Amino acid sequence: MKAQQFVVIGLGRFGSSLALELMEMGYEVLGIDHNEERVEELNDRLTHAVMADATDESVMRSLGVRNLDCGIVAIGDDMERSILTAILLKELGVKMVVAKAISILHGRALERLGVDRVIFPERDMGVRVAHQLVTPHLLDYIELSKDYRIVELTVPSCMDGKSLAAINTRGKYGCSIIALNRKGEEGVIVAPTAHDYLYAGDIMVVIGSNESIDRFEEEAV
Ligand code: ADP
Repeated sequence: MKAQQFVVIGLGRFGSSLALELMEMGYEVLGIDHNEERVEELNDRLTHAVMADATDESVMRSLGVRNLDCGIVAIGDDMERSILTAILLKELGVKMVVAKAISILHGRALERLGVDRVIFPERDMGVRVAHQLVTPHLLDYIELSKDYRIVELTVPSCMDGKSLAAINTRGKYGCSIIALNRKGEEGVIVAPTAHDYLYAGDIMVVIGSNESIDRFEEEAV
């Protein structure tokens, strides 16, 4: 079942941006921070914003945290509090617990405690930006495994007006264009055929081995 109600603990840069984005997407968000200013800043913008210490079990119980679908521990540098909060959320029975880690060891500890998903925002963003810097047409990517990925690329002007058959990514590079997103009215084309055309500025979604995508990016894009 998809999560509908979230509790975000720690309303620093990461936590507040996550909480606000979830609100924007139409979900209910309870924000908790022990810093009064941070709570006041978000008071009107979250479903509820509460000033509390998230390591205090009785407070967390009284806030009804256990009834929420997903808890995100976005406590920054204080590893001890982050770990204690994650344990508490698990013990309270929050179905899905996500926690931000600031180091590999911190991440490992969170995993051992049964946290469902550990994220490393700074590290992951660093990796992402590095890829985007060397491939200017790269908008986003997903690592499917160690060897395979999906990338979202802007169609460069050298491919403008060419059909997928002419570009022949599968034959030449071994990767496939699985979707196109046109700027115009046509919108998204899922599983385009050899007779679909590429236009500069459209977005193409490509799947393949890292090696095939690297070659496609280097030689064609
Ligand atoms: P970021 O890098 O995302 O800005 P910060 O370290 O600035 O991270 O923010 C973490 C937030 O977590 C701070 O606002 C801090 O007040 C809050 N926080 C830390 N420990 C607790 C706790 N035990 N209970 C509630 N909030 C906490």
